[in-house]
Amino acid sequence: MTSFPISLIVHGGAGSWRPGSESDAVASMAAAVLVGRKILESGGSALDAAIASAVALEDNPIFNAGTGAVLNLDGFVEMDACVMVSPGGDFKTARIGAVTGLQRVKNPIIVSKQVMEETDHVMLTGNGAQRFARVMGHADYDPVTADRRADWQDKRSKLENELGSQHDLQPDSMGLPTPSQFKLRSFLKTHPEFAGGTIGVVARDAQGAICAATSTGGYTMKLPGRVGDTPLPGCGTYASIFAGASATGTGEYVIRSLACRQISDNVERGMSIAEAVDAMLDQLGHDFDADVGFIAIDANGVPYGNHRTRDMPHAYFSGSSEIVAKMRVEK
Ligand code: ASP
Repeated sequence: MTSFPISLIVHGGAGSWRPGSESDAVASMAAAVLVGRKILESGGSALDAAIASAVALEDNPIFNAGTGAVLNLDGFVEMDACVMVSPGGDFKTARIGAVTGLQRVKNPIIVSKQVMEETDHVMLTGNGAQRFARVMGHADYDPVTADRRADWQDKRSKLENELGSQHDLQPDSMGLPTPSQFKLRSFLKTHPEFAGGTIGVVARDAQGAICAATSTGGYTMKLPGRVGDTPLPGCGTYASIFAGASATGTGEYVIRSLACRQISDNVERGMSIAEAVDAMLDQLGHDFDADVGFIAIDANGVPYGNHRTRDMPHAYFSGSSEIVAKMRVEK
């Protein structure tokens, strides 16, 4: 049986990393690659390797996924995650599992894998996803950290101070924001103290399977109920026989361009993985000036990551190479 070169790449979110925590973020990237690498080197699957690396990052409170997920406008967490696997060899049928709006679970990425393996469905949302997680044995768990609560309180009081007169923040009778609060992107752009922290993994195993996994709390002050690109196959997460990719950054831009699917399509048309990712970044820059980044691996096992933000911590290895870990791709 042919043995393919193994490889794995991770990201820790496109954005501007909080000063002082850069080395921690980069070291955590390298550590997460090592977790997945050990699985691949002992003959494990791309799926198991990607999930293990993703769990290591979800459990690390400096990232915006699992423990440490950011809070929405109302001050609670709604986590999204997705895993997609394209089998190697002659098998062409990809498998996908996704969850959206999970509030009290430690590892959304494991729940997304269980949706893929244990149900007839591709995606579960909100209360149904939460109930499914409990049936699968996930204990009640509050992922909110003191740092995330403090960040949210700071942003929320700035919002009230600056926009209070036009933006009545008193909830209406349903506990929802009023319509004047629905567009907050310009406010958030002027308060970019810290953005980033979504996590993503792409892995390729010795059988030639490619797996992409992404997990996030979305972004701070998102409207309750907002679903980002992360759990949407072809948008924030995608794997095919040509390539796997995981996106990060403002998800609305990634969704509008079906970005991870386009990266795979570009590879299918003959681009290298680096050309495919960079072409997608150029398109998102041209169309939206989007704050986005990607990691990807092609069918030859070549890993590549790039971004349009100042930072995107990432790390990777392929074959027998050393693990490379960086805060950003120098332009
Ligand atoms: N893409 C994520 C979302 O929009 C956020 C991020 O990657 O920073 O939910």
